[in-house]
Amino acid sequence: MFSYTVPYSALATEAALVKTELMRAVESVLDSGRYILGPEVAAFEREFAEYCQAKFAAGTSTGTSALYLALRGIGLDERDEVITVPNSFIASASSVALAGAKPVFVDICDDGNMDSQKLEDVISDRTRAIVPVHLTGRPARMKDVLEIARRHDLFVLEDAAQAVGASLDGKRVGSWGHAACFSLHPLKNLHAFGDGGMVTTQDPDLIAGLLKARNHGMVNREQCDFWSFNSRLDEMQAAMLRVQLRYLDALTETRRSLALRYNDLLRPYVEVPDEGPGEHCVFQTYVVKAERRDELKQYLNEHGVEALIHYATPIHLQPAAKDLGYSALDFPKTMQHVSKILSFPLYPTLTHVQQDRVVELVGSFYQKN
Ligand SMILES: *Cc1c(COP(=O)(O)O)cnc(C)c1O
Repeated sequence: MFSYTVPYSALATEAALVKTELMRAVESVLDSGRYILGPEVAAFEREFAEYCQAKFAAGTSTGTSALYLALRGIGLDERDEVITVPNSFIASASSVALAGAKPVFVDICDDGNMDSQKLEDVISDRTRAIVPVHLTGRPARMKDVLEIARRHDLFVLEDAAQAVGASLDGKRVGSWGHAACFSLHPLKNLHAFGDGGMVTTQDPDLIAGLLKARNHGMVNREQCDFWSFNSRLDEMQAAMLRVQLRYLDALTETRRSLALRYNDLLRPYVEVPDEGPGEHCVFQTYVVKAERRDELKQYLNEHGVEALIHYATPIHLQPAAKDLGYSALDFPKTMQHVSKILSFPLYPTLTHVQQDRVVELVGSFYQKN
């Protein structure tokens, strides 16, 4: 098997940093005999809410179910529309369709996030909610989005799946909207060893509904208020997540310093992801914009660097989205962005030697060509 000298991720090396504590957490759950909705999930929910500067948090089975349950929690019907961006992971839009409404897209700015100045063009009398995505770990323009939402009486659900710990003007993602959704997938900055998700909110009614909705619509063992899935976070994952959460700030700092080092070294060759005013980015992905991107990607891959594209096909052009009626002529900014983006390996255990190898290859690609 071909193996990269600079792989895109190195999850096992990261887990090894805290392995003793993780094993202790696993053992304690095993010994407790409580595996579903017990003290670990409850404690993680409290700690996570506090971390995100939010009032409440609820664990879910995945980030996608977090989005789906939060959207369903506001009671969408099939004529309702929810606005999000085409430049995201598919779940930002699939969750809207699954919750029974119609995804409507708005174009992005140069930084890859929702263009709030174009929002009002796509708001209709059927619009119920806006789902800004904090893509790559960069906070979306929440002040503008919230101001527009207030004017039109819309619900704001942050897709914070990539952005745990990111903040704008010192206020963390997960505390801005009516609710926010997080993914705990292994490739996200705070992750389970398997799947998991979280919803944060300031709204006591929404959280009460979510706690039922993730658990068959049940209030307790006897009473079911509405039909719903089983979408729970489990005790084993929650116990390991509590360990990870204690190290999150330190790991994020390492990630940030590596990202800023990439920015300095790569600036002569490609467009680097500088932070905007007031933004504290957490770099879940490190994405540059490159000329002759496809050739550069191939060159890096052939020389042992696993560079990837997030995401090569925007959501509005997916086969699943064909009934929404969009075409490749829509969203020029997104289309331009998608043709240039390239994600480089970035994780807390990436070494400077590995990073220098990436930079050296990028330099030699542009000098040779
Ligand atoms: C990862 C991700 C999700 C979905 O999370 P899962 O836990 O994989 O279901 C949703 N939105 C965005 C932007 C993501 O990156």
